[in-house]
Amino acid sequence: MSIAARLRKVEKAAGVGGRCLSCRDHYIRYGNEIRRTAPNDLLLTVCDNCGHTIKLIYSGCTERERSVLTAAALDDRLRSDPVKWIASYAWIQYMPRYLEILRIGEEEETRLRDAMRSDKSAMRQVNVLNEYAAHEKRLEVAYNLAKEQLRHQKDGFWADYFIVYGTLDEVRKRQPEINDDLLFSFLVMAEMEVFMWGEKSAETLKLVGDRQREIEEEAERKRFEEEKRKRDEEFKRRDKEFLNRSRALCGLPPLPSSDIHA
Ligand SMILES: [Zn+2]
Repeated sequence: MSIAARLRKVEKAAGVGGRCLSCRDHYIRYGNEIRRTAPNDLLLTVCDNCGHTIKLIYSGCTERERSVLTAAALDDRLRSDPVKWIASYAWIQYMPRYLEILRIGEEEETRLRDAMRSDKSAMRQVNVLNEYAAHEKRLEVAYNLAKEQLRHQKDGFWADYFIVYGTLDEVRKRQPEINDDLLFSFLVMAEMEVFMWGEKSAETLKLVGDRQREIEEEAERKRFEEEKRKRDEEFKRRDKEFLNRSRALCGLPPLPSSDIHA
């Protein structure tokens, strides 16, 4: 028996299990990125499921984003206040850098699935990802069932949940009209801050304003380009008319349109 297998047996006998499925999924998706990340860009916390230490990626986050991530992972006062905790959770889920980190995990999953035919290690890792996805699916079904059954409760976790998610759903309904991923994220974050801090923060409102300006400038640039394109077409049309009138005076047939635009 290898030392690792013996260690696992001793740990099991002592009731100290290995990492849970959630931790293993995390390290398969983000292990490479975590190894590439400087230690001061990692948050060391403890997994709620198995109690093992776990590293979360902080790189690319602003100080404010880091403080929310730290509080959601470590601050017991926040974690024991359902409304604030649910709102912080949603705030993080829509944070642009968090969405980028999720994409890193999705790319790693794609890489492993492509490699699994010829790589046994990749296949073992994909098996863990599949097992975790199935576990998450079962949780989601149970969660949705509880949500429906307890929808009309006046207090408790689900009452708090519906307060926060009711607001979140209002912003989600506006997503097609908002039509911009970054602006949508900032608007969700601003609404969640009302639950987290009692008001929308100046920082997020500035992000909303800056992004709205960028979108307006981009729309203005497109309008300008479209007008220029129309003007150029009109000039070409007039040139053609002039050229064909001159040709007609000399008894020549009109040019085909392709010759005019060449
Ligand atoms: Zn764990």
